[in-house]
Amino acid sequence: MGRLVLVPTPLGNLEDITLRAIKELKSCDFCLAEDTRTTGKLLHLLNIDASLVSYHMHNEHKMLDRLVERIATSAGHAVLVSDAGTPGISDPGFLLVRACLAAGISVEVLPGPTAFVPALVASGLPCDRFVFEGFLPLKKGRQTRMKELAEEVRTVVFYESPHKLTKTLHELVTYFGPERKASVAREISKLHETHHRGSLAELSAYFSENPPRGEMVVVVSGRS
Ligand code: SAM
Repeated sequence: MGRLVLVPTPLGNLEDITLRAIKELKSCDFCLAEDTRTTGKLLHLLNIDASLVSYHMHNEHKMLDRLVERIATSAGHAVLVSDAGTPGISDPGFLLVRACLAAGISVEVLPGPTAFVPALVASGLPCDRFVFEGFLPLKKGRQTRMKELAEEVRTVVFYESPHKLTKTLHELVTYFGPERKASVAREISKLHETHHRGSLAELSAYFSENPPRGEMVVVVSGRS
């Protein structure tokens, strides 16, 4: 029976790839990739020739049974990667891991890049206990979630896209209060990495004046 290996890939700097990641990518039977062009470029830079299969949020349900069968009957291993970071973290992965485990297929997850860990640790906010919220709901349930999270005593970590950051910070000021400490980590592991730290009111004012670009993680202190 084959096995499934989840391989984290760099968020920015290519040097964040691990030796184990390279080894698993080089020796896999096939590599499931969220965007085969993005992964193709990475593999080209690493001088790896792997057979790529497109696997993303729009086909992951449809492909599941066929993939589990293919992995189960393979003699080697399949790799799952996302565009950047760790598969399964706000990216496809969970469904396949669950289905493989249910079919008795061994699943291995390599440690490696993921955006929320450096954002949390660099925030200077307590990181002994935290809640990872991924992306907030866009509409339905958003207000309820904000209200619930405002009561959370652990540090709260969100993923956010640049064009929604200003609106989200504005809402956080409303629900969490203007004084709550927070941090916005941008472009982690890239040339223009930044970390803005301050109260929610300060961050909201700053990003309203300076519309953000790039990828970002928002970290908010828990209720004291
Ligand atoms: N699987 C990824 C991980 O392990 O972090 C997350 C994928 S999710 C689709 C993309 C979100 O992750 C972005 O919207 C942003 O919030 C965050 N992200 C990814 N790369 C980042 C980076 N270099 N700097 C800051 N945030 C990043």
